Amino acid sequence: MSKIIVVTGAGGVLCSTLAVALSKQGHKIALLDLNLEAAQEVAAKINKNGGTAIGVKANVLEKESLEAAKKEVNSAFGLCDILVNGAGGNHPLGTTSNPFFQQEDLSSTVEGFKTFFDLDPKGIEFVFNLNFIGTLLPTQIFAKDMVGKKGCSILNISSMNAYTPLTKIPAYSGAKAAVSNFTQWLAVHFSKVGIRVNALAPGFFLTEQNRTLLTNEDGSLTQRGQQIIDQTPMGRYGEPEDLISTTLYLCDEASSFVTGVVIPIDGGFSAYSGV
Ligand code: NAD
Repeated sequence: MSKIIVVTGAGGVLCSTLAVALSKQGHKIALLDLNLEAAQEVAAKINKNGGTAIGVKANVLEKESLEAAKKEVNSAFGLCDILVNGAGGNHPLGTTSNPFFQQEDLSSTVEGFKTFFDLDPKGIEFVFNLNFIGTLLPTQIFAKDMVGKKGCSILNISSMNAYTPLTKIPAYSGAKAAVSNFTQWLAVHFSKVGIRVNALAPGFFLTEQNRTLLTNEDGSLTQRGQQIIDQTPMGRYGEPEDLISTTLYLCDEASSFVTGVVIPIDGGFSAYSGV
């Protein structure tokens, strides 16, 4: 059955792929993004291929912006059935320069060098807000449409670092742990009204956000990039397409008794102790 699906962060690498895949199932897709142009570009691609989609400007951190987006979605398509909370990411201000703190780091003269002690609370706040509040607010706005309807669900995007924090990125790790925790909380909270809530925990995907951290200019892997591959039993980065089948499953009646799960899609990263 055709559903009305709202995807936030839909102009981005992973969620544009998910939006296209969901459109191919006959669903109507509202692509929300801060970057309207990016969202509209994906919507145009979907419409050109016989699907139905609109690009809508929305800031997942502003209730008014989300209310306006909801009005647009409701008048174009009707009430929302499924919400994919895809907007998220890290920020350099919430990231340390080195994985391990050493005493001599305190006297470093390297420009821009950042220890734990230099982390800017504003950067930490930005990352927590984008990932956690940016999941909570769209849910408050769009889940209201789902109350009293059948077959509704919410899909959040967590991450590997929600299980065990990655070095250098305490804010992003903590924020994604909060997203996983919230997924379980919300699944329980909405269980009596039939709204299922689940999450994907993607492993490592080469995207614009992390390309400079993981690859050098000549395309070879950085030390961190190589470490990730070494820790991934399947020995490769994920491709956005690797997320499609689990997304379709969690958004479909096929998973009608599944709620509160966070599914790792990580080539075995989370199962491997490294030994
Ligand atoms: P991306 O940067 O390609 O896409 C993110 C999109 O979100 C962008 O289009 C951006 O414009 C939009 N956005 C940013 N702030 C916004 C806001 N305030 N309101 C609305 N839209 C906003 O990132 P991606 O790699 O495709 O990541 C998608 C999701 O997957 C994120 O939640 C990310 O944390 C998560 N994730 C990514 C990876 C990875 O390896 N790339 C791994 C695990 C989890």
